Amino acid sequence: MLGVDLVLGILAALMAVFTALVIRWAVEARMPLQAAAIVFLLLMMAAMFGGIVVYFFHPGTTGLVEGLWLAAGVMSAGALVPFLAFLRVAQVQLTANESLPTAPLRKGVAFGALIAALVLANEFLMGWAFDLVSGLRFAPLATGLGPLATSVTAVIDSPWFLFTMAGEMALTAYLLRSRFDRPFVIVVSFQAVLMLLSPPALGLSGWREISVVGGSAVMIALFVYLMEHIYREKELNVAFSRYLTRLLGVYGLMMAGLFLWAAYGQPLLFAASIVLEMLVYLDAVVRPERFSAPERMVWQLNANWAFQLLAFIFVAELFMGALLDLQIQPGVYAGAFPSLPLSGSTFIVLENAASNGFWFFALVAGSTWFLAMMGIEMGALVVFKFRETRHLETKIRLALMMACYGLFAVFFPSVYYSAVFPTWASGTQVPILGWSMGIGSAPLVPSVFVVLLVTYVATGALTALFGRRVICSVFCTAPLMYQGTAIDAMKSFNRSSPFARKYLSSRFSALYSTTTAVVLVALVGTSFLSYFDQTGRLNITVGGTDPSVFLFVLSFSVLWYVMFVTIPYTGNYNCVTMGWCYTGTIAQAFQKIGFFKLKVRDKQVCRDCTTLDCAKSCPVGLVDMPGHFRQKGEFRSTKCCGVGNCVGACPYGNLYIYDVRHWFRNRLGLPIPPASEVSLPVLRNPSPRVGASPAVPAGVTTRTATSPTGSP
Ligand code: SF4
Ligand code: SF4
Repeated sequence: MLGVDLVLGILAALMAVFTALVIRWAVEARMPLQAAAIVFLLLMMAAMFGGIVVYFFHPGTTGLVEGLWLAAGVMSAGALVPFLAFLRVAQVQLTANESLPTAPLRKGVAFGALIAALVLANEFLMGWAFDLVSGLRFAPLATGLGPLATSVTAVIDSPWFLFTMAGEMALTAYLLRSRFDRPFVIVVSFQAVLMLLSPPALGLSGWREISVVGGSAVMIALFVYLMEHIYREKELNVAFSRYLTRLLGVYGLMMAGLFLWAAYGQPLLFAASIVLEMLVYLDAVVRPERFSAPERMVWQLNANWAFQLLAFIFVAELFMGALLDLQIQPGVYAGAFPSLPLSGSTFIVLENAASNGFWFFALVAGSTWFLAMMGIEMGALVVFKFRETRHLETKIRLALMMACYGLFAVFFPSVYYSAVFPTWASGTQVPILGWSMGIGSAPLVPSVFVVLLVTYVATGALTALFGRRVICSVFCTAPLMYQGTAIDAMKSFNRSSPFARKYLSSRFSALYSTTTAVVLVALVGTSFLSYFDQTGRLNITVGGTDPSVFLFVLSFSVLWYVMFVTIPYTGNYNCVTMGWCYTGTIAQAFQKIGFFKLKVRDKQVCRDCTTLDCAKSCPVGLVDMPGHFRQKGEFRSTKCCGVGNCVGACPYGNLYIYDVRHWFRNRLGLPIPPASEVSLPVLRNPSPRVGASPAVPAGVTTRTATSPTGSP
C-alpha cells in the first residue's frame, strides 16, 4: 500500500502544481478565447477523475465502459466551450470591422465563480478517485449521515484533498505574489500551513497531537499578525478587509467543526468549512485587481467590521480552547461538556440548549488551555505595546500585568491549585477564592474568612495606596486583553460609537449608577445565599450551581467576553466605563479614599495645549481630564484605572500619576521627579502665566503650537 500511496502522493503534488498554474493563467487571461481554453482544461481534468470514480463504483468492464463514456461525454461537451468562444470572436470580427480588436475578457463574479467551482470540483473528484484507489482508508468516523454525505465528507477530510489544496494555496500565493500586497500573500501562506495541519487528514499516531497543537499555534500567530497589521495600517483595501472577515468567519466554523470532530466524531462541519474557505480563497485569487483598487476603509470608523473581526476571532478561539482542553487534558475534559438532551417540549429544548450553550461557554472560557492561548495571543499584542511605550512606569506596569496574567489566570488556578488540592473541586466551582469571587461564603477551609479578610485587606490597602490600577490594570486578567496594540486602538470607538459616548467622561450617569447598584446587590445577595446554602440553612441554586459561583461565572467567564467583542459598540474597557464589574466597583470605593490621582506639573501648559492628547489616549474615555488640569492642576476620578496612556501621550511630559510615593515625597520636601521620557520643548510665554505652578520641571521651558501625537 505504501507504494500506491507514494505514487498517489506524487500525482497529487503534480496536480497541485498544475492547478496553481491554471489559476495563474485564469488570472492573466485577457481574451475570451484564453478563458475558454482554461475552462476546457479544467473540464478535461474533471472528466478524467470523474471517470475513475465511476469505474471504482462498478469495478470491471461495466465500470470501465461507464467511466470512459462519462469522461468522453464531459470532454466533448467541454470542447464546445472554446469552439463557441471562437465562433463568437469570428462573428464579431466578420460582422463588424475586421480590424476591430476582439473585446477583452470581462472578469465578473460569474467568471470567478466558474473557475472556483471547477477547481473545487477537480480537487474533490481527484480526492475521491485517490481515496478509492487507496482503498478508502481515510473514511471518517461514524457520522450518522447518509451514505452520500458520508462519502463527500470522507473525501474532503482526506489527505488527498486537504494536502493538495494546501500545496495549491502555497503555490498560487507564490506565483501571484506580485499581484497582491504582501499582507494578502502572508495570510494565504498561513492558510496553506493551517490546511496542511488539518487534524482529520491522517490517522497516523501522533498526527492528531501535532496537528491540533501546531494548528492552534499557527492560527494564534495569524490572529496576532492580523491584529498587529490593522494596528499599523489604519486604512485597509476594501477587498482585503472583506476577505479577512470572510476568512475569519470560516475559521470560526472550522474550529467549531474540529471540536465536533474531536469530541463527538462528527466531521461534517469541518468539511463544510474547508469548502467555504476554498471558495473564499479562489474567489479572491481569480480576480486580484480588486485588491489593488484605490478604495480604502478606515477600520476605526467602521464599527461593524471591527465587531465582525473580534466576534469571528473569538468564536475560533473559544472552540480552539475547547479542542486544546480535550487534546491536552482528555482525562479532565472528555465528557465534561454539558449535554442536556434536546428533546421534549419546545420550552424544554430551548431551555436545555441555552443551558448547554451557557455552560459550554463558561467551562471553556475558564479552562486552562483557553486562558493560556488567550494569554499568548493577547500577551503578544501587549509585548508590541510594551516596545513602543516610552514611559518607564507604564512599561513596568505592563510587565507586571503580563506576569500577573500568567500567575493568576493560568498557573495558580490551573496548575498550582490542582497540584496542591488534587481532590478539591475545580477553582471555578468553588464559591470563594478571594477578591475576584466577591464576598463568597463556602466553608472550604476553617480559616476561610481569614483568607477572605486578608485578600480584601491586602488588595484594598494596595488600591488605596496606588489606585485601582492595582486591580484593573495589573491583577485582573481583563487589562491584558484590553491593552494590546490593536485592542487599545479600539478606544476610538469610545468616542465614535453612539452608545459608548453615553459613558464618556468621569461623570456617573443614572444608567451607570443603576448598573453598579444592581451588580452590588447581586453580589451581596448571592453571597448570603451561598453562605446559608453552605451552612445547610437553605438549599438554593442558580443555573444548577452555587449562587455566588453562578454570578462569578456569568460575570467573568461569559459576560466579560460578550462585552469584549462588542467593544466597537460599547467602547474599550466597558467593564469600567459601564460599571458592570463588581470587582471594579469595589476597587473604585478603595480608590475614592486613597491617594491616587493624575497631576500636571504646570497648569499653564495645559491651558495652552491644543493637542489634548491625554484625553484622546484614555482607554476609559475620561475626556474631561484636560479641563480639570487647567483649573486645578489635577484630576481625580474613580473611573480612572491608571493605565498611564495619558502620561505617555502628553507631548510636553507635563502629566504624572500621583500616589502614596508622591505623598511621602511631599511630606519629606522632596521634588517630584521630572518627566522621564523625551518631551517637546514648550515655547515660553512672554506674558506672566496665570496660575502657573511654581514647580516647573526641567525640560518644560519653552512652548510650541505644534501638535504631535504620542498616542497610537
Ligand atoms: S473593572 Fe473588573 S473586569 Fe474590568 S479591569 Fe477592573 S476588575 Fe477587571
Ligand atoms: S496633553 Fe498634556 S499638556 Fe495637553 S492637556 Fe493633556 S496633560 Fe495637559
